[in-house]
This record gives sequence, C-alpha cells and structure tokens, in this order.
Amino acid sequence: MRKRIVAGNWKMNKTYSEAQDLMNQLAAYKKENTTNCEVYIAPPALYITAAKNIFANNEVGVFAQDMSEHTSGAYTGEIAADMLASVNATGAIIGHSERRQYHGETDSHCNRKVKLALDNGLVPIYCNGETLEQRKAGQHFEVIKNQTEVALFTLTAEEIKKVVIAYEPVWAIGTGETATPDQAQEIHAHIRSLIASKYGQEVADEISILYGGSVKPDNAKEIFSKPDVDGGLIGGAALKLEDFATIIKAFD
Ligand code: PEP
Repeated sequence: MRKRIVAGNWKMNKTYSEAQDLMNQLAAYKKENTTNCEVYIAPPALYITAAKNIFANNEVGVFAQDMSEHTSGAYTGEIAADMLASVNATGAIIGHSERRQYHGETDSHCNRKVKLALDNGLVPIYCNGETLEQRKAGQHFEVIKNQTEVALFTLTAEEIKKVVIAYEPVWAIGTGETATPDQAQEIHAHIRSLIASKYGQEVADEISILYGGSVKPDNAKEIFSKPDVDGGLIGGAALKLEDFATIIKAFD
C-alpha cells in the first residue's frame, strides 16, 4: 500500500531557537501519539542537522526545501544533493511554485534535480500545479501533463516509484483558497493515469500524491478522504504544532 504522508514546508520562517522549539514539540507529540501517516518537515536547510539530532530515530523525515541541479562547484548559495545526503536528510522538495515564480525554475531543472536526488538516495517531493490563469483557461490538465512528463518521465520505473508528487495549484498556495476535494481528486487521478500509461498501473498505484494549497485543520480530513489523495504538503499550517497535529490526525 502506498504511503500516506503529511509534510510541513516551513519556507523562510523561524529563527534557530523558534525552530528548535517547534521540532521539540513535534518530537514530543510523536512520542505520545501513534500516527497513521508518515510525518515530514522541511525546515530551512540551515537547521537540517539540528532536526536530524532531534528526530534521531527517523520518526519524522527531514527534507530540504530545494537543492541544486549541479553536483558541486562554483554555485554560490546552492546546496548539493550529496551534501544533503551527508547530513542524512531524507529528501528534498523540488519545483515548489515559489522556486518557479521567484527563481525561474522550470521542469527541465526539476528533471535534473529529481534524478540527482534519487542518485544520492534522497526522496524527491516533486511539486507541480497550474496558475489561476491556466485554470481559468481550462488548461490545467494539459499543464499538469506537460510538467509531469518533462520532470519525471526520463526516470525508470524503479526510480519513479521512489518519487513523491505534490499537486499544488498555484492559486491555492498561501492564499487561503483551497481546491475543493473533488478538484484535488480529479487532478490526482489525472496524474496517476499519466503515470499508469507510461509505467503501468502497478507502478502508478505505488506513488504517493499529496495535495498542497491552504490545507488547514478544518479541511484536511475531507481532502485526504479522496481515493487518490495520499496526504498533504502543508505551508502555513505547519508552523504551529496544534494545527499541524490536527492535520496529521485527519488520518486517524
Ligand atoms: C506550500 O507552500 O507548499 C503550501 C501548500 O502552502 P500553504 O499551505 O500555506 O498554502
């Protein structure tokens, strides 16, 4: 059975001591509660080592929010896949819409990053999603198809099975606007059928597809109840334990 996952993307939030507080709260929560899903966080990369010390039993997966498409060298400010692997990061978010919007990231970049992540034993959480204009123009199925094909379809079946996909409609990220559970289901089923046509249904059925875009404590249960929604990538609501824990509990 494919994994159910709740992943928190902290983005550029929290000082070191604030980050340690939240990680310690989450570690205590995990100690006291059994969860019916895997729990991941993506803190700022600066705090990955601290996170790995706090979650020493791998009870929470620790992800980078991005990684370089290059292996090493003169790329100031970048972090390479083998560096993340060397501090035992679980994986990296790749192709988040904020990376696409503010840093010109394309699906070709994502393709190189996903491959490098896999080559270094990291789990890529590959994000895709349409803009509001694209949805209004009825292009969302086509946009998702192109994104998925360019970023992922050079992988082998064994490789793609290790990828987590996050459908994140750009119009729903940080806006308080959420795709309806049916809109999410429709696109998740579309992504799964694209994978099935290329790699076969068995492979498609193994891949966890998360929804991201203003998932909150009060809407998580309904969204996660859809058959092709295997969890969520959570931004704002991952910054407070109470909210994040309620979203995790949506799988109870
Ligand atoms: C995200 O950043 O991936 C995200 C989904 O953010 P939010 O939950 O705040 O919309």
